Amino acid sequence: PPSAQSLAQISSIVRKKLQGYVGFANLPNQVHRKSVKKGFQFTCMVVGESGLGKSTLINTLFNTQLYPGKYNDEAPVESPKTVEIKSITADLDENGVKLRLNVVDTPGFGDFVNNEASWKPILDNIEARCDMYLEQENRVNRLKIVDNRIHACIYFIAPTGHALKQVDIEFMRRLHTRVNLIPVIAKSDTMTEEEVFAFKERILSDINFHNIQIYQAPQYEYDDAETIAENREIVSKIPFAIVGSDKEVETEGGRKVRGRAYPWGVVEVDNEDQCDFVKLRQMLIRTHMEELKEHTNNVLYENYRTEKLTAMGIQQDPTVFKEVNPMQKMEEERLQHEHKLQKMEGEMRMVFQAKVQEKETKLKQSEEELYARHREMKEALEKQRLDLEERKKRMESGRPMTPEKAKKKGFSFNK
Ligand code: GDP
Repeated sequence: PPSAQSLAQISSIVRKKLQGYVGFANLPNQVHRKSVKKGFQFTCMVVGESGLGKSTLINTLFNTQLYPGKYNDEAPVESPKTVEIKSITADLDENGVKLRLNVVDTPGFGDFVNNEASWKPILDNIEARCDMYLEQENRVNRLKIVDNRIHACIYFIAPTGHALKQVDIEFMRRLHTRVNLIPVIAKSDTMTEEEVFAFKERILSDINFHNIQIYQAPQYEYDDAETIAENREIVSKIPFAIVGSDKEVETEGGRKVRGRAYPWGVVEVDNEDQCDFVKLRQMLIRTHMEELKEHTNNVLYENYRTEKLTAMGIQQDPTVFKEVNPMQKMEEERLQHEHKLQKMEGEMRMVFQAKVQEKETKLKQSEEELYARHREMKEALEKQRLDLEERKKRMESGRPMTPEKAKKKGFSFNK
């Protein structure tokens, strides 16, 4: 292993000027080509009461009918009795760039009289996805790791104009350390501009009051002024007031736009003056998708992993990066578990054998009883047969046996 001294030597880095073109300026292109070839993958969860426009928003965001209309008259949707977790996967292609999109819906959330533990199945699902990832990381063959972790969770707030509901606060409080939370005000076209403004303030102050960490599109030192301004603009709109629509309508001027038509006019989805849909899409898809994935992996998942290992009895020293071998720990646990199973299996086998033996003894006994009865009956019949034979002989020879004689011989004699 390298000594501390040799490591110190490496750390004295000098800046050198190249004397000609070497070629690593092409590295970004190599990364780009490889990523395009491999394709991208993104998993997004939507949470909120039914009818708040979750499926419509997903359709609008990805400009596709991922969710065919739920609300047609012929097939009314059955509302679930508990919170369910349902996912849809779609392979999308835009100018040759492939995106595998997973959308996880949570029908039933917030729909009951008592929504106290609505967050629980969702948290369990998010953690189960992390466990699945952790398990794959600990395998010897780590080539084919499938990442099913939730990279973003869009939380739909009902456009009540009042404040957050208890169920909203509880959900965000329980989930904010596990997932990138992106709160949105659903169906914001049902509120006026002033109402939306006041509602946003109220929501943000509730979020602050409860120390909830929502996802804040971060910016970096190396970002240029334009990107920084754009990011500020995005952050200033959180929670995004959105309008969803996967249908085209015609404006007064005769333009065809994605929007919702009202008697007093048209609300345009893609018009930044009318709602924050564009900003949400900007952040989620165009500028921060990779960042959301990185934050999930480097911060949220890493914290979960550490908590989990600590709970398993391993204290991680922050100065020793991943010193603890989770594989070894898991292997130990697996062996312990196997040992326990073997013991249980042995005990079960013993009980089983004892039961079988008991049954066999009983069967043998009743078999013997049956045989004995059979023998008795056979003997009785044989005796009767001999009796009849004897009587027949006597009748034929014309000297029937006297009753006295028959009695003496032990034959039964009926007149
Ligand atoms: P989900 O149950 O949350 O998935 O809700 P849906 O996406 O199925 O939408 C429920 C209803 O609300 C449908 O009739 C939609 O057309 C309507 N809807 C969806 N988004 C909006 C919106 O932004 N504004 C308004 N006013 N209605 C919407």
